[in-house]
Amino acid sequence: MNKTNTSQKKRVITSVIYATIVALLVMACAITIAVVNNRNDNPTTGEIGNNDELPVATVTFVLPMQNATIAKDYSGAKLQYNDTLKQWEIHKAIDFVPTDNLSVYAVANGTVTNVYTNYLEGTVIEISHDDGLVSIYKSLDSDVLVQVGDTVSAGTEIGTVSNSMAQELNTNAHLHFEMTLNGIKVDPNDYLSLGDK
Ligand SMILES: [Zn+2]
Repeated sequence: MNKTNTSQKKRVITSVIYATIVALLVMACAITIAVVNNRNDNPTTGEIGNNDELPVATVTFVLPMQNATIAKDYSGAKLQYNDTLKQWEIHKAIDFVPTDNLSVYAVANGTVTNVYTNYLEGTVIEISHDDGLVSIYKSLDSDVLVQVGDTVSAGTEIGTVSNSMAQELNTNAHLHFEMTLNGIKVDPNDYLSLGDK
C-alpha cells in the first residue's frame, strides 16, 4: 500500500515537473514572440522610416601633408622599433616626413575638438568628423592655426610639423597621424589614398 502510494506520488511529482517545464517553455515562446512583435512594430511607429530619410554620411578625405614620405607606417599588432626610446612598440599611426612643405592639413570636414601640448606627444590637434571618426595630428609646432570649436574643411591648413614629440624625437620634424573610430585607433590607410607614398 505504502509502496503504491510512493510510486503514485513519484508519478504525480514527475507530472508536475513536466507540466512546469512545458508551462515555462510556452511562456518563453510567448515572451519571444512578444519581443519580436514589438521590434516589428517599430517601423510602423516611424523609427526606421526616419532613418531612411537621413542622408548617408560619407566623409571625403584628403592627405594631411603634401610632398611627404612615410617614415613609419601603421603597424596594427606588429611591433616596430622606436629609435628614440630604443624599444619595440606598436605604432598605430602613420609618420609623415615633409620633403619641403611643412604645412599640415585637415583630412576632412570637421570640428576641432582638442588642442594640447605635452612632452611625449608634442603639440596635438584633434578634429572630429562624421560617422564617429576623429583625426589626430601629433608632433606639431606649438604655433597652431586653429583652436577648439573651429570648423574646418578638408584641406584647411591647421599648423606645421616639428620635432615636438619627444617619444619620436629621432624622426626629426614629422607628423604623427592617428585616426580613431568611436574612440578606437584605426588604420588611416583605410581612409586616406596614400598611393605609393
Ligand atoms: Zn609616430
